[in-house]
Amino acid sequence: MTNEMITLKCTSCGREIQVPAELAEFSCLYCGAKLRMADFAVPAQSADEADQTFAEAHILDCIRDFPDAYKQFNRKKYDATFAANRDCLAPAFEAMDRWICAQPARREELLERFVGSFLSQWEDYHQGHKRARSRRARLRLEFESKLTLAWYSVPAIRSLGLSVSEDFPVLLRDRFNARYPDNRFEVASYQDVASGFRRGLFRK
Ligand SMILES: [Zn+2]
Repeated sequence: MTNEMITLKCTSCGREIQVPAELAEFSCLYCGAKLRMADFAVPAQSADEADQTFAEAHILDCIRDFPDAYKQFNRKKYDATFAANRDCLAPAFEAMDRWICAQPARREELLERFVGSFLSQWEDYHQGHKRARSRRARLRLEFESKLTLAWYSVPAIRSLGLSVSEDFPVLLRDRFNARYPDNRFEVASYQDVASGFRRGLFRK
């Protein structure tokens, strides 16, 4: 199908050989060793550090850039704000997903790291916010952000269908709720919110 050649290092003599990618078995041109493609761990995709950097730099944009999202939490305005929040966070979570999927052995460690990054940026954002002049004002602000997280960003992450779409929100909920026991959230989906509006659960 393709004539793609890949470069491998012979496991017997250590020299570099060029082999058609579709060959399952071949011999080294130099030493004649019988080699099998399956023995070469060719990664499906290579990890790109730019993905990690991008994901960490933008992981809190979905909160930071949507300070008034909680005010749009009604049947009429929810969908548009949900879509905007989803568009905002998709590139960061897609980058996170690529970075994690390229390193399956480090999956749990990397998920913890991203959740940790989210939480430390969450802390810095609210501590440094101009409206957080008192403890009471900061708690109010964190409550508003939590609504954005619970009703927009978490359902949006889950709607992306990525490998991290369930793992990240669940781990974030566990770590977040342990850290902020008075500002807990549960993992909801877009369907939960939409049906909540239909059933009049959120009507003011
Ligand atoms: Zn060889």
